[in-house]
Amino acid sequence: MYVNGKFVPENQPVISVFDHGFLYGDGVFEGIRAYNGRVFKLREHVDRLFDSAKAIDLDIGMSKEAMEEAILETLRKNNFKDAYIRPIVSRGNGDLGLDPLKCDKANVFIVAKTMSSLYDTMELKAITVGVRRNAPDALSPNIKSLNYLNNILAKIEANAKGGQEAIFLDHNGFVAEGSGDNIFIIKNGVVYTPPTINNLKGITRATAIELLEKNKIPTRVENISLFDVYTADEIFVTGTAAEAAAVVWVDGRTIGAGKTGPVTALMLKEFEKITSTTGTE
Ligand code: PLP
Repeated sequence: MYVNGKFVPENQPVISVFDHGFLYGDGVFEGIRAYNGRVFKLREHVDRLFDSAKAIDLDIGMSKEAMEEAILETLRKNNFKDAYIRPIVSRGNGDLGLDPLKCDKANVFIVAKTMSSLYDTMELKAITVGVRRNAPDALSPNIKSLNYLNNILAKIEANAKGGQEAIFLDHNGFVAEGSGDNIFIIKNGVVYTPPTINNLKGITRATAIELLEKNKIPTRVENISLFDVYTADEIFVTGTAAEAAAVVWVDGRTIGAGKTGPVTALMLKEFEKITSTTGTE
């Protein structure tokens, strides 16, 4: 893995216990995929990493170009073709107090693991959870920070209730997103997804919207209620790790026919095409 400009074996200890990412979750990260040796949407992920850092006033200490090269080099050094890549930037080493001024400079880590394409028939059961997605204030859901505690609590709640994914509501009661993915619902041939004020600006979400438009499927970005979810004909979620997956059951209600619907199936095919034909080498 990449650690502050050097490559080290992954079993080598690299983080100080005084790292504020470790102590306080003070930092940001990305999740990126490589398909057949090409990194999908590299610039978009690096842009989001830098935006997340900017929002928490964290200086990454390197240029976007240097970050892109470090990500590509991590992939090459591991000789991986299909992989999940995780750049992590922490505030750096400080002391036991939380003041970021105590941290001299950011620590930059890039970890990669092999991961093959899923694009198959994942049919998920989802649970609406009590924990709410961050409000769009200073701790906006658009910051991909190392503080994922509410997502973890959501996952714990979904696990406990027999769901494989959690659905977050926002503080107004509108549907926000999953614990690690964005949500789309389909009703009468129209696709709906919430505006990104209450969820992460998903890069797969943006790709999905482009692919839906390319296929002339009417798509609307608007608030979604739980009623809309329960009465949808189809639901799918999108994310770098999840790719696109059908949600066929929510809170005990079967969604549509209870299996991957035609729009979701089309998205899976389109995603497979775009990820296998584009990306940065
Ligand atoms: N929502 C959350 C909370 C996430 O952690 C992720 C994953 O990064 C997503 C949505 C999906 O975003 P993307 O498609 O950019 O991976």
